[in-house]
Amino acid sequence: MMYKSTRDENNVVTASQAILQGLADDGGLYVPVDLPKLEINFQELKDYTYQEMAFKVLREFLDDFSDEQLQACIDGAYDEKFDSELIAPLKGADGNYYLELFHGSTIAFKDMALSILPYLMTTAGTINNNENDIVILTATSGDTGKAAMAGFADVPGTEIIVFYPNGGVSSIQERQMLTQTGDNTHVLAVEGNFDDAQTKVKELFNDREFRAELLESGKQFSSANSMNIGRLVPQIVYYFYAYAQLVKQNEIQAGDLVDFVVPTGNFGNILAAYYAKEIGLPVGKLICASNDNTVLYDFFETGEYNAKRDFILTISPSMDILISSNFERLLYHMLGDDTAKLTELMTSLKETGAYSVDASTHAKFADFLAQFATEEETMEEIKAVYDSANYVIDPHTAVAAKVGRKLVENRQNPLVIVSTASPYKFPEAVLNALDIETTAMSDEDMLADLKAKSNVEYPEAIIELQEAASRDRQVIEVADMKDQVRYIVK
Ligand SMILES: *Cc1c(COP(=O)(O)O)cnc(C)c1O
Repeated sequence: MMYKSTRDENNVVTASQAILQGLADDGGLYVPVDLPKLEINFQELKDYTYQEMAFKVLREFLDDFSDEQLQACIDGAYDEKFDSELIAPLKGADGNYYLELFHGSTIAFKDMALSILPYLMTTAGTINNNENDIVILTATSGDTGKAAMAGFADVPGTEIIVFYPNGGVSSIQERQMLTQTGDNTHVLAVEGNFDDAQTKVKELFNDREFRAELLESGKQFSSANSMNIGRLVPQIVYYFYAYAQLVKQNEIQAGDLVDFVVPTGNFGNILAAYYAKEIGLPVGKLICASNDNTVLYDFFETGEYNAKRDFILTISPSMDILISSNFERLLYHMLGDDTAKLTELMTSLKETGAYSVDASTHAKFADFLAQFATEEETMEEIKAVYDSANYVIDPHTAVAAKVGRKLVENRQNPLVIVSTASPYKFPEAVLNALDIETTAMSDEDMLADLKAKSNVEYPEAIIELQEAASRDRQVIEVADMKDQVRYIVK
């Protein structure tokens, strides 16, 4: 099982090398050279624990890890940090199924992969006799930052630096990051949006001189963004697990098709669903849900990817993205793994802000459906699900649920709504959707109100937040990101 760069087919590495590097140094992303063939028997898989499912899937993709090493990574990651023994429980509500991916320590789906990535990364270091310290550079639209900091906090031989858009994350998200402990964790607000931060991080990765300079002091970069296959591969697991739960609960028969709707930003989560389908999970449609930043929806409709538009701040900030990194991987596969063509399109995106594919390429995306939900529709959906099922969902999940509803005529199969964050992360937006006026309320008041509404106890992440000491906010310019990295790691 080898991985190759989307921009250079001769750049081929093992799984552990791909994880250590994060991004390919030619500017591309690593993708599997060939997908593994999984033996799938849901009569057996339905009784698997999450950890067993993780072992089954991960060992196919990360085949230069020994079974013992993988098991140790899985045991370290999926333990009592999760407040559900199931790790990723599936809840029926309002005629659909919600796959709750927010039971980890930072109450967003990023925990599903970021609780295991530090283990995979240090094990990958061992496998490759790597003696350098790993400097994790991460741009976050709100949730990756905290989950990555929590995962890497005090992990020996690692340093983590997180950049988030100033004013572009929810107040709870920001407090979660600012209260993170660990001498090796660093977090900076950037004057710009998520795309500005992510583009700069990619630039630093591809800055050969800078990398050489770091290497001299025994340090190398890696990424905790979903550009790293160490993020992507663990996300495949829960699609199998969700399906197995449906079989176990007698909601479907093994082999029946299931649709998944995924609230999408950087396209990592839905790409994992695509890989799950490619290796044999019986999936009907993969539904890409966007908020008012409709760049992906527009691509699926027209075949043109056009990032030349206003960046809109929404109540689902983790999906506020115009340059969706992992889309490069899907595009590459749809182009028939054509490196030259892909590179041409990515160059066009960089230089002109847009690219288009021809009709025959566009037709290859037929496994996907796409739609978006406006701010108003997102709020309506939170209210509608609450009124009909007494179930409170967060704004990201609501975008997905609304999109599922809008596409009801185009679908035939049971629908799993991928639920990416706890409503406790976005109390203001959720309460407003439930017609509660919050202007005069503190975060604490809002959380208390939300608890009364949802009848869900505070997760540990919220209890911690109320007691934790916060570091000072530090705001920098995009242009100063490089100097800040230099300053921190030296
Ligand atoms: C990151 C995130 C998303 C978007 O996921 P991608 O993998 O970037 O598409 C959606 N919802 C929440 C809550 C997130 O944190």
